[in-house]
Amino acid sequence: MCWGPGRFRSDSAQPTGPGPTGGVVMARSRTVTQLPVPSTLTAPTNPVLLQGFTWDLPADGTHWRLIADNAILLAATGVTSMWLPPAYKGHEGINDVGYGVYDLYDLGEFDQKGSVATKYGTKDEYIEAVKALHDAGIVVLADIVFNHRMGADATEEVVATPVDPKDRYRVLGPPETITAWTRFTFPGRDGAYSDFTWNWRCFKGTDWDEATGRNGVWLFEGKQWHEQVAEEHGNFDYLMGADVHLSDPAVAHELQRWGQWFLETTGVDGLRLDAVKHIGRSFFRQWLPELRRTTGKALPTVGEYWTEDIDLMMNYLGEEPIMDLFDSPLHHNFYLASCSEGKGGFDLSGMFVDTVVQVRPENAITFVENHDTQPGQALESYVEPWFKPSAYALILLRDKGVPCVFWGDLFGTPETGDIPAVTDLPLLMRARRSLAHGPQHDYIDSPECIGFTREGDDDHPASGLAVLISDRCAAAKRMRVGTRHAGQTWVCVIGEGEDVVIDEDGTVEVSVTDSGLSLYAPIDATGILQRALEHLARVC
Ligand code: CA
Repeated sequence: MCWGPGRFRSDSAQPTGPGPTGGVVMARSRTVTQLPVPSTLTAPTNPVLLQGFTWDLPADGTHWRLIADNAILLAATGVTSMWLPPAYKGHEGINDVGYGVYDLYDLGEFDQKGSVATKYGTKDEYIEAVKALHDAGIVVLADIVFNHRMGADATEEVVATPVDPKDRYRVLGPPETITAWTRFTFPGRDGAYSDFTWNWRCFKGTDWDEATGRNGVWLFEGKQWHEQVAEEHGNFDYLMGADVHLSDPAVAHELQRWGQWFLETTGVDGLRLDAVKHIGRSFFRQWLPELRRTTGKALPTVGEYWTEDIDLMMNYLGEEPIMDLFDSPLHHNFYLASCSEGKGGFDLSGMFVDTVVQVRPENAITFVENHDTQPGQALESYVEPWFKPSAYALILLRDKGVPCVFWGDLFGTPETGDIPAVTDLPLLMRARRSLAHGPQHDYIDSPECIGFTREGDDDHPASGLAVLISDRCAAAKRMRVGTRHAGQTWVCVIGEGEDVVIDEDGTVEVSVTDSGLSLYAPIDATGILQRALEHLARVC
C-alpha cells in the first residue's frame, strides 16, 4: 500500500466535513459520554497541553458546555492536559475574556457586572467541564490573574505620586490627591465565601484620576514598586488597572485563602499564572508551595513571563524552580521565521538558540500561538499559516519540552480574520503519541533547511520518524534513523516525498518541497495512525 501525497492527512479525522475554517469539528450541543476512553490517555509518555480558548470566542456563555460535551473528542485528538481561561468575573462581565478580573470569588454565580455567567458560562458549568475533562483523562490547569483588578465598585481619594509611564522611577511632580477606582465591595456577592473587601491600601497604584479625567501612572502614598519585577519602563510592576499590592500581609493572606477555596471548589489540577513578570518574584515562591502544602496537590504550574530575553527567564526560574515557563523566545523565533521577507530570511539553524527548551528543557512549555499573539492583541506576533505545520512539528515531535497547542490552530478562528485551522495538526498530535519516541538525532545545521529524527523504541510499535523543514527552496538531507530500521520502507505522511528505503547503515535521504514540511514514518506506522484518526472520526 502506498500512502502518497495528500492521501493520508488529518482530513480523514473529519467525517462531518471540515468546519467553516477547516480543522476538527466539535459538537456544540450534544453530549458524547458513551464512547470508551483509550487507556493510554491516563498515563501519557508524551503529554500535550491544549490552550482551551482564543481571545475572540463568542461571548455567549456556552464555552464550558462546549468543552464538557467534547471532552472525549479532545482526549481522542491527543490532548492530555488543558489550560482553561480565567473562570471568574471580569469588569466587562460576559464580554470579558477574563484578564480584567473584578471578583475572584464569582465564578459565574452572582449577578455582577451585568450578568451571572462569565463569557464562558456559569460556575456549575465550569465545574461540570472540569469533571468531564477528568472523566476523559485530561488534567485541568486554571488561569490565575493576580496582578491587577478592574471595575471597582466605588472611588476613593488617595494621595499619590505621578510617575513617568515610560520610567516608573521618574517622579513627575509632588504627591497629589487623586480619585481612584480602588474600592471593591462586591455587593452582588454580599460577603459569600469571603467578607474581604478591597480599598486603596490593597493596591500600589493606578492609571486614572476620575476627578480630573487624566491618564497616567500614580504610585500610592507609602507604597513602592516591587524591585523583583521586569525592568521595562524602569520598573514593570504596574501593568494595568489597580495594581495589587501582593506583599501586603492582608492581601497575601486573602489570596492564600482564595487559592485553597478555588481548588477545593473546582477540583482543578494545576495552574497557569498570568503576567508573572509584573509580580514580585517572591510572591509566588511563598504562595504556590503553601498552596501545594495545604491542598496536598502537586499543582503542575506554568507561568507567563513574556520576554525574548532568556537570561531574565532563567533568573526568574532560579536554582530551584517552582513552576515551568512558556517558551516565549521560541515563539518569537517561529514568528520571525514565518514573516521574514520573501520567506527564508531567518536562519533556521538558530531556531533553538537561547530558548527555554534549549537552556532549561525540564521547565519548558513550548507553544506556537496564544490568545495574546493573535492579530489585534496586546502581544501580536502571529505566526503565518505557511510556517505553522513546521512550527508544530518542532514542538510536538522532539524529545524536550511540553508542547501547548492553541485552540485556534486546532479548530480555526472564524471570529479573528477567519483564520483556518492547521489542517495537519491532529495528525502531528497523533504522531507525537505513536511515533515520537527513542533517541533523537538533530540536523539543525543549515539556514534554510533543518531536520531531526527519532529512532523509535521497543515499547511503541513502528515508532520512529524523520522531519525535514525548509523555509525557502526544496531540499533534501540524509539523516540517521537507526539501524533498527535498516531495509524498511518509510512513507511521507505529511509532504510530497516519495517512499524511501532505509539504508543498511541506518541512514536515509528525505526531501521537502519549497517552504514546506515533510514527516516520514515507517510504513507499518501508517496503519496505527490511520486507526487513531478513525477513532477520532468515530468520536466526532
Ligand atoms: Ca504588579
